[in-house]
Amino acid sequence: MLSRSGRRFNGVPARRNAPGRNRTCDLALRRRTLYPLSYRRVGLSVPLVKLTHRTVTLALREPFSISRSTDETVDSVFIEIEHDGLAGYGEASPQEHYGESVESASAFLSEAGALLGDDPFALDELEGRLGSVPGEHAAKAAVDMALHDLCGKVAGVPVWRLLGLRREGPPTSWTIWLGDPDDMARRTERIGSRFRRLKLKLGAGDGLDVERVRAVRGVTELPLQVDVNEAWELDEALENVEALSGLGVQYVEQPLQAGHPEGHRLKAASPLPIYVDEDVHGLKDVSAAAERAHGVNLKLAKSGGIREAVRMAYAAKALDLGVMLGCMVESSVGIAAAAQIASLCDHVDLDGNLLLGEDPWAGVDFVDGVQVPSDQPGLGVHEALSRTR
Ligand SMILES: [Mg+2]
Repeated sequence: MLSRSGRRFNGVPARRNAPGRNRTCDLALRRRTLYPLSYRRVGLSVPLVKLTHRTVTLALREPFSISRSTDETVDSVFIEIEHDGLAGYGEASPQEHYGESVESASAFLSEAGALLGDDPFALDELEGRLGSVPGEHAAKAAVDMALHDLCGKVAGVPVWRLLGLRREGPPTSWTIWLGDPDDMARRTERIGSRFRRLKLKLGAGDGLDVERVRAVRGVTELPLQVDVNEAWELDEALENVEALSGLGVQYVEQPLQAGHPEGHRLKAASPLPIYVDEDVHGLKDVSAAAERAHGVNLKLAKSGGIREAVRMAYAAKALDLGVMLGCMVESSVGIAAAAQIASLCDHVDLDGNLLLGEDPWAGVDFVDGVQVPSDQPGLGVHEALSRTR
């Protein structure tokens, strides 16, 4: 075997003058440039990529209500992928609504470590291996985040730069969770000037959703977005979108149940853009979304990570769909990962970390209403709170 210096190795002579050597060297150089870690496989032992994970319960600042649930805490799984002295971080925010839990995510992550091999840059290959296990998109997203973090650290550049993107994005919306119209208006008044967009959760099933928007509109001039979380029937949706069109609403998110057979009728009749969220998980869902919506809401916990979300963003643009980037209630790890691709999106809803009572991580800059990714290598996140608290 030939050593990196070209000397004899393991008793095999170096073949400096062998035909095709120049081409071989060119390929080796390219491989070294593209895959600096795997390059070192030749004749050397390369450390395996090692994955560890832990489950945490994060308390929200205030109880958070949407059409189908109210939460005071959320459970997340933080992961760390170590390789060659560097660590990459990721976060899984599994959603019960999609049949995932911290238990199922943890079970997946316990097995995933063995599939990672020794080259964190081999993202396509790793995605193929992890994809052989069905579901568990939140856990897969955590692995994808951590690998991007690690690759950025190896390369010495932030992930947005690694992807050739920009360190910018639209202002994030701030969520006004579901309550009585007056309560939602009072909470809106308390926000002050921190945010430049508001997202109102609707879908209480009490016939007051338009009234909620009217009450909030009465106390703010900010652009409003509404998210119904699948709670309207078709007739109700057709009526409500008409009423909302005069209230400065930018778009209506997921008014109908995912997969609703009449979604195309609402799209055709609506004076406001319809965005879908629960309807769209991965790349394969984007073309169907074009039949029922004007835009799609991408979330890493649904897509399985940054790579698939980027593919979805470009697919949506090719279909002339608007692109929104959303999140779960999650820490700055998950938000930082999403913020890396915010410059690809028309609308951003990345307030998940700001909803927490205490965010155990830091690394996203909230500047003039925008969640700006760090200029540090990788995701640029670090632990902000001691684990012993
Ligand atoms: Mg939504």
